[in-house]
Amino acid sequence: MNQRRISKPIQIGKVTVGGGAPIVVQSMTKTDTADVMSTVRQIKELEDCGCELVRVAVPDAEAAQAIKAIKKNISIPLIADIHFDHRLALMALESGCDGLRLNPGNISEPDKVKQVANAAKERGVPIRVGVHAGSLPAKARQAGLPPSPHPNLSIAEQMVEAALKQVRLLEELDFELIKVSVKAFDVPTTIEAYQNIAQKIPYPLHIGVTESGPPRTGIIRSTVGISTLLYEGIGDTIRVSLSAHPREEVIAAYEILKSLNLRQHGPILVSCPSCGRAEVDIVKLAQAVEEKLLKIDKPLKVAVMGCIVNGPGEARDADIGIACGKGRAVLFKKGKKIKTIEEKDFVKVLMDEVGRF
Ligand code: SF4
Repeated sequence: MNQRRISKPIQIGKVTVGGGAPIVVQSMTKTDTADVMSTVRQIKELEDCGCELVRVAVPDAEAAQAIKAIKKNISIPLIADIHFDHRLALMALESGCDGLRLNPGNISEPDKVKQVANAAKERGVPIRVGVHAGSLPAKARQAGLPPSPHPNLSIAEQMVEAALKQVRLLEELDFELIKVSVKAFDVPTTIEAYQNIAQKIPYPLHIGVTESGPPRTGIIRSTVGISTLLYEGIGDTIRVSLSAHPREEVIAAYEILKSLNLRQHGPILVSCPSCGRAEVDIVKLAQAVEEKLLKIDKPLKVAVMGCIVNGPGEARDADIGIACGKGRAVLFKKGKKIKTIEEKDFVKVLMDEVGRF
């Protein structure tokens, strides 16, 4: 794995992004932001599963004003997602947001960016220059906005160009609390854009594959894109975009980081796929254990294995593991065989041991 690209750290509320800080997991609410109760409830659900930064959509003044009440009831920093109307960014800042996301595809006029940058600077609030392949300046032209000066560039190059343009504008305004993203649905385009911009700016990068779909396919698309970049040392904060409850995004983000040994967060479950040798229903058992482990914070390795081929080896290698046989299993703890348990007690005994660990 490549050494991590060291970026200029920024502070979003209490959370540091970049500069070698642990890679931050973030998500976005799917509620109507103006509905304070529902939004707070969803943010609490995200906090409970380890989300470290949350973004809310700010499509109108009601949403911008709601940030004030939402902030009073949550413990993680809040980022306001702004498109089209820079005045909403100014209102979100007044409401106390900890970060802003601006889309250069729909807010790029220097005077408007300047007003937002000045107000953000006064409050020490960072701005993410969040470029999206779906709202590039070239696409914006179709909506009557100024065209891209380089229409022959690839989509990845156009995204980088759009991001750099706004980054340079912020720098001219003496604003450096910058974070950047260049997301597309197409994974190679996303990777190319991030590789390109990572060499050109010193700022932290928010990485992700946008609109990657429902969990079954979306987690794969996101993992391919995000992991490739992380393996190359690129990325300071990640968001997995899924058509699902945002809790799924946070769980998937941590699994990506855990798979690359970049973060520890809760247990790792080792379970065999099962095959004709298994004498218990490993698929059902693994699902039941996985469900229960979601509520555990401790970083420990748990193994659920189907037979004696690889079972004892993997179970021994885990902090807690079972190697199943016909109707019974051997329980291992820290490499030592502890006892034999009956099939009806598998989940309970395993979870009791996890609780005691
Ligand atoms: S551990 Fe045994 S049951 Fe599980 S996949 Fe391997 S051989 Fe099959």
